[in-house]
Amino acid sequence: MARSDAMTSSTSSSTSPAARSSATTVGILGGGQLGRMLALAGAPLGLRFRLFDPARDACGGQVAPLFVGDFNDLEAVERFALGGEDGPCDLVTYEFENVPVRTAAHLAGRLPVYPPPGALETAQDRLHERRLFERLGIPTPGYRVIDSLEDLRRAAAEEPLPALLKTRRLGYDGKGQCLVPSAEKCEAAWEAIGRAPALLDRFVAFEREVSVIAVRGRPTGGEPAEVRFYPVTENVHRGGILRLSRAPSPHVSEDVQRQTEDAARKVVEALDYVGVLAVEFFLVRRADGGAELLANEIAPRVHNSGHWTIEGAATSQFENHLRAVCGLPLGPTEAVGHAAMVNLIGEVPRAAGVLGLEGAHLHDYGKEPRAGRKVGHVTLVGRTREEVDGMLERFTRVVG
Ligand code: AMP
Repeated sequence: MARSDAMTSSTSSSTSPAARSSATTVGILGGGQLGRMLALAGAPLGLRFRLFDPARDACGGQVAPLFVGDFNDLEAVERFALGGEDGPCDLVTYEFENVPVRTAAHLAGRLPVYPPPGALETAQDRLHERRLFERLGIPTPGYRVIDSLEDLRRAAAEEPLPALLKTRRLGYDGKGQCLVPSAEKCEAAWEAIGRAPALLDRFVAFEREVSVIAVRGRPTGGEPAEVRFYPVTENVHRGGILRLSRAPSPHVSEDVQRQTEDAARKVVEALDYVGVLAVEFFLVRRADGGAELLANEIAPRVHNSGHWTIEGAATSQFENHLRAVCGLPLGPTEAVGHAAMVNLIGEVPRAAGVLGLEGAHLHDYGKEPRAGRKVGHVTLVGRTREEVDGMLERFTRVVG
């Protein structure tokens, strides 16, 4: 369905003008798996979609019209949002957090854009993100701002090591990060991250990583916008890439759930946010047995740690994001049973092998296999945590 000409759309010829006028068209900046899952979730609500991505083979293009262009090309983005035989989009959202803020702000002057571009701006810079947490009284890992090798050397002499050097911008899935094991390794670490402005993060000996997915609707008729939260998700990363998410977590007390919700509520309200937002935390166990949460980062979009909600919650994060940005009532966020989400990295296993496991749901993103690439996920849903433990064991045995 790829289109290089943003004035045309593959659905236009089969759509009558009458049908067109009543349907809401959502433009999504980014056409990867998140855009694909948004379009799949929105179809039953009668929503139409249009995706914009620089990659001609972006996998969202298999399920919705894809407009190919550069995110910095304001004319192309404007034609995508406002032109086309199907008429303009009713609103624009994003599934990719590195959409240039200038592009999002340009569109926001012309049609509704949710979440607000200011949220993108904050999330694109780790320092701005940390300063937002600090301003809101949300604890974070200790860190130092690094603008030069000299800064790094000074920080490494004063801070406990090892520590993690992370670029402020464009870091994801473990990219743009380097462990600084000792002061002698400063230069190598500085080179490894491309000498970019960075933070030196204190290494957190966390018990586990957790995230909370919040969704905030649009304010209506003078009423404050509604905010809902999913049960906290436990996440296991390897090589900086999410491998496994489980929810609800038996290791998360009501108090921890409440703390994550309080933090996420402060963030979405401070950003006047509309849509789904994820907040990632490190859970640190104190000597007295209590739990302390340190906020690491936010994602101003639907999030990998919320994929389990498709089959594991009353309303998926994708549907709730669309409900929020379209000004529709939000759906219930409670879990239906217990879920584990396993990311498929590199290649998708044989469908028959996965689907032969009772309670397994396959999501093949239709991407070319490539080492280290997220190409799909499988969600296992059961009635109890123990049942899901057994399913995970069988999944590992059968699928590897
Ligand atoms: P990030 O890009 O900040 O999400 O980091 C990717 C992964 O690196 C996290 O999910 C953690 O597993 C690990 N990580 C990041 N920051 C720290 C830290 N300060 N201490 C320990 N591990 C970290």
